[in-house]
Formats: sequence, structure tokens, C-alpha cells
Amino acid sequence: MINKKKNVAILGSTGSIGTQALEVILDHPDLFRVSVLTANNNCDLLIRQAQKFKPDNVVIVNPAKYKKVQKALGGLNINTFSGEASLSEVVQNEDVDVVLTALVGYSGLQPTISAIKAKKTIALANKETLVVAGELINKLCKKHGATILPVDSEHSAIFQCLVGEEKNPIEKIFLTASGGPFLGKKKADLLWVSKKEALKHPNWEMGAKITIDSASLMNKGLEVIEAKWLFSLKKEQIEVVVHPQSIIHSAVQFKDGSIKAQLGLPDMKLPIQYALTHPTRIENNFPRFSFLEHPSLSFKKPDLNTFKNLLLSYQALEKGGNMPCVLNAANEVAVQLFLNEKIGFLNMSDLIANCMEKITFVKNPSLRDYIETNKETRILAKTLI
Ligand code: MG
Repeated sequence: MINKKKNVAILGSTGSIGTQALEVILDHPDLFRVSVLTANNNCDLLIRQAQKFKPDNVVIVNPAKYKKVQKALGGLNINTFSGEASLSEVVQNEDVDVVLTALVGYSGLQPTISAIKAKKTIALANKETLVVAGELINKLCKKHGATILPVDSEHSAIFQCLVGEEKNPIEKIFLTASGGPFLGKKKADLLWVSKKEALKHPNWEMGAKITIDSASLMNKGLEVIEAKWLFSLKKEQIEVVVHPQSIIHSAVQFKDGSIKAQLGLPDMKLPIQYALTHPTRIENNFPRFSFLEHPSLSFKKPDLNTFKNLLLSYQALEKGGNMPCVLNAANEVAVQLFLNEKIGFLNMSDLIANCMEKITFVKNPSLRDYIETNKETRILAKTLI
């Protein structure tokens, strides 16, 4: 049982993870209280959420939307802020227990660092934070005694498989991948695919950035790097397996060859809930899995020749230093350019590879180096097209 109500700060409350987290919290008012809600632009939903959950603090990042939020929440005893720096401030509030980081991309880095320094528990849904600066984040967690609990479904699966195995080293992990909407396609098929086709992922609820990342397998590449830092693994210990049904969320193989996997219907609410209640499991009414309704689960090798992003991610991981930061920044620019219909689907990998070749390599980066690398890579990527 959880004794005291947990105060949850949700960074990115209007996105897919944020809204599902609020559904979980709504089902368990005895266990959780929302203390912070934040959004970049979606002020209408943010206002509705704040009126419903009555948090202490609300941040609308876009200053142009601030007046509207402030006016709507006036008289409700809610502090309202705007600007990116406010995210890093509200997470430090004394009564915040858990910070759910559901921001998109690099923007999650600074607020997560602030939360770690304030010794908060981090429910990490923003994988880019670990991709960009995993080594630094781990060091800070150790120094400040902060804990990171994974929300990403694959990493939650591995985390769940490791419960009770503290003394048993991992031989390897299997990260499962749905393969996205272009599974089975070859390079020639992908030359002219449209933004609309790439956004046609079975899971409509995800945001645009992660949906494109899933289609290009960059999402899996980022998850390989995320897994390295979460579970202290070497590149050789992380195997990606394409599993189109998304029932096995990932698996761990131990020294004796035994494999433990975590299974279930693909539903992000489960890993969100587990991160919020860990180490306890609590009841819910999520749909249950039936083996008989899923008689065939299939597996295959990822096609690294067609989906070059996964290969580039392994290369960035091997090289280390600021290279994963370059990979991430170049990808964020590439995805935006693809969504703006400025470049083709396959051009995204070319752009990332090009940036990885050209940006100055830093072997042992500081936070300042990561910030610089991110900035430089974005500038370079825009000049390369
Ligand atoms: Mg995932």
C-alpha cells in the first residue's frame, strides 16, 4: 500500500502521455494529487485540466498564451507562469514527489536536471534526455540521490523483468519494435512516401514527432541508447527484434540463458501507472490480454539497410561522447523538415549521417558542451538541406 498521497508534477500534460497520466490519476484520487501541469501551446486543454485537477502551479511555455491562462485560472488559487525557464523552477517545489517528464525532445533536458538536483523521483517519458546526456544524468542522479523510473513501454518492461534480480547480471536484452507503418518496405518504396502515410501508425494517440520516429525506426534507435544508460549495458547487449503485434514489450536474458519478458496489450497507461506506483502494483480496469485471441506472435530482424536510422543510432552509441546528442539534434531538425514537407523520408537519415560526420567530436562532454553541440547541430542541419 502507498501510505501518503503522491504529489505529481506533469511536464507536458496536454500530450499523449500527459493526458493518459491524468486518466490514471483520476482513477486513484486516494493515491495521487496533481501539483504541477505544463504545456507548450495548448492553452485551452491546459486550462480545462487545471480547472479539473486544481494543481498548485501551471506553466504555459508560450508567453503569447500566458494572459489567457492567467485570466481563466484567476481566483482558483493556482500560480501561473510562462517561459521555458519556469519548467525548471516548478519541478523543484518542496511538495512535488514525482516529476513525470512527458516533454518532446531536447526540451526535456534542463527541467529533468533541475528535478534531479531537487532530489525528485523522475518518471521518465522523455527518452531524449538520456539520449543526449545519459552519462551526465546518471552522474547527477547518483550525486543527488534521485531515481529515474522508465515510462517508455519497452524500458518499463525490462525494469519489471529485473525486479528481484538485483544480484543477477543481465546477459542481454531484447528491445521489441512494432516496425511502424513501413514494415517490409524497401528503400525504393520509401523515396516518395508522404507525411500523411508516415503519420499512419497503428497508434494514433502518439504525437507527430514520435510517430515519424517510429516510422523511420529512429524511435527504436533512441530507445537503444536510452536502455544503455538506464540499465548500464554495452552496445552488444542490446538486440532489437521486430515484433509487429506489440504484445511482448521487451525481454531480459540472464547469465543462465533464461529469458523473462513482460507482456500485455499495447496500452501506455500501464507503464505510466507502474512508474507512479512502483514498487507496488495497483488494480485497474484496463483491458486484459488473452493468449487465445493472439495465437501467433511473430518476430524478425530489423532491416538496417532500409531503416538506416537504427544503424546510425548504434554508431552514435559506440562512438559515445557528444555523438548521440548530434544524432538527436539532427533528427529533431530532420523530422520537422519532413513534417513541413521540405525533405523526403529517406533524406532524414542522410541529414543525420551528414551532421554526425561534420560536427566536432567531444569525448567527455560537460553540460555546456551538450548545449553547444545541440545548438551547432541544429544550425548545421538547416544549412545542409
Ligand atoms: Mg517505446
